[in-house]
Amino acid sequence: MRYSKLLIPTLRDDPSDAETISHKLMLRAGLIRKVAAGVYSLLPLGVRVLSRIEKIIREEMTNAGAQEVLLPALQPSELWEETGRWQKYGKELMRLQDRHNRDFCLGPTHEEVVTDLVRNEVRSYKQLPLNLFQIQTKFRDEIRPRFGLMRGREFIMKDAYSFDADLSAAETTYRAMYSAYHHIFRRVGLHFRAVEADSGLIGGSSSHEFMVLAETGEDDIVSCQQCEYAANMEQAELVSPQTRSEHSDESMLSVSTPNQTSIEALSAFLNVSKDKFLKTLFFIVDERPVAVLIRGDHEVNEIKLKKNLNVTELALADREAVERITKGPVGFSGPVGLEGLEIIADRSVVTGTSYIIGANEKDRHYRHAVVGRDFDIDRFFDLRNVVPDDPCPRCGGTISIDRGIEVGHVFMLGTKYSEAMGATFLDQQGKSQHFVMGCYGIGVSRIMAAAIEQNHDESGIFWPQQIAPFDVEVIPMQEKKEAVMNAALEITVTLEKQGFEVLLEDRKERAGVKFNDADLLGIPFQVVIGERDLNEGMVELKNRQSGEKIRVSIEDVVTSLIGLRLQ
Ligand code: ATP
Ligand code: MG
Repeated sequence: MRYSKLLIPTLRDDPSDAETISHKLMLRAGLIRKVAAGVYSLLPLGVRVLSRIEKIIREEMTNAGAQEVLLPALQPSELWEETGRWQKYGKELMRLQDRHNRDFCLGPTHEEVVTDLVRNEVRSYKQLPLNLFQIQTKFRDEIRPRFGLMRGREFIMKDAYSFDADLSAAETTYRAMYSAYHHIFRRVGLHFRAVEADSGLIGGSSSHEFMVLAETGEDDIVSCQQCEYAANMEQAELVSPQTRSEHSDESMLSVSTPNQTSIEALSAFLNVSKDKFLKTLFFIVDERPVAVLIRGDHEVNEIKLKKNLNVTELALADREAVERITKGPVGFSGPVGLEGLEIIADRSVVTGTSYIIGANEKDRHYRHAVVGRDFDIDRFFDLRNVVPDDPCPRCGGTISIDRGIEVGHVFMLGTKYSEAMGATFLDQQGKSQHFVMGCYGIGVSRIMAAAIEQNHDESGIFWPQQIAPFDVEVIPMQEKKEAVMNAALEITVTLEKQGFEVLLEDRKERAGVKFNDADLLGIPFQVVIGERDLNEGMVELKNRQSGEKIRVSIEDVVTSLIGLRLQ
């Protein structure tokens, strides 16, 4: 394909509104253009990358026994009412009305639609197992759409939904998907890890996320350096809480802490390490406040908090609520004198130990406040995020915490949706049973961004071979010289005959411009044809990633590239 005929609007400078490398490079390499916040057009090179990713996904899903369908993006509210998610999904659901004022949404996910299909069409255990997948545009009104395709409000997802006769069959399907995902992400060329995950709004009992390790990731991943344990921070357990018992015989003492409202500031002001403080936070749970105590050096994990309190929604109390509850200003809250309020604490808070706490009074804190003497805690749970010093919950080994981008997610759903929607089949005994379901998502457009996060240098992108927009870029340095252009054309045709997708850089540009753009676009191999080399029957072959250049004879170009191509 000729460069001059393609819409590849490259930019020399970094666009000012892009924060991450992948977002900048996608704009600069002319892969995408913004239409609105979280809404993008994909240009020809972007579409080529996307189609290659989709091809790999289709092949692996089909190999694993799934069938492709295409469900509607436009979905009636009635189906979502059946599962209660019309209310529960909240503002992320893009809602609209048709001309008859009927409620619809643009699908953020498809459990309802697919379960409706299967309850109508599948009657017998003989039709199971069934696994349906699609590659389709999803809509989510994200609070913070950002980083280009990474977190869009409209994005492309591969989603799959499996239906099995019983739990053990469903587990077999889950494992098949888990392994298909390994094949997919390996073929796409990403460095990734499967981690244990929270199953969130979709629910269910077992779930893994596939994480691409990258600095710009929005998730924290906890992994053990000794054993196989890896989990999303949201999910990472703490089996043996750190227990530090420091008894104090001194009475609780009110001290002046003018304007010291953060643990950071207090720790410096009193010259006491952060772990000697207790933070008191208030969450509104089912419209009533709950006080949560956590050590100054720890962070509350809201997912764990929800699980332990057995609720799907909770919110941090606002300033007004805190002032009403504590009768003191925000920044000085503590557990002493909180009447009629449940007080829960993380398990690292130890009874009999003294801490520094807020005094519920402006500019005052208490020192020597002893748990069980000066205030009581109703219940203890695992409520905090893992920190680097914590031991691995499986083997006690050393953990590390890395940033990751979630590119895929597999859930075991159980009968959550089939029960809510009355989706049943007749088993071998002729008895009606609910389908046991699983669901499996991949962020197809997000993969493109994640791949760039992992594969770039200061000059631009270097695509993994399997998903590159083209395999080879042929660059005639002096396109006006007939011999040079003829050689370029000939090499292009020969490579195409061998199954390579080739971009022929035929623009009337200076060689320097062509080289810069070639490095920016990141096609894995460049064949550079210059007049001087050509006189000796030679061309230059450049590996974009390693930067390695070799001179090869024209006759050997194709064989060399065949040798370098991943099979
Ligand atoms: P996240 O925690 O990043 O919001 P999620 O848990 O909401 O993801 P799922 O519902 O599991 O995502 O969706 C399946 C896949 O779709 C995710 O693994 C992710 O790769 C992708 N995805 C989710 N939201 C977006 C988005 N806003 N933009 C692009 N891709 C997304
Ligand atoms: Mg989400």
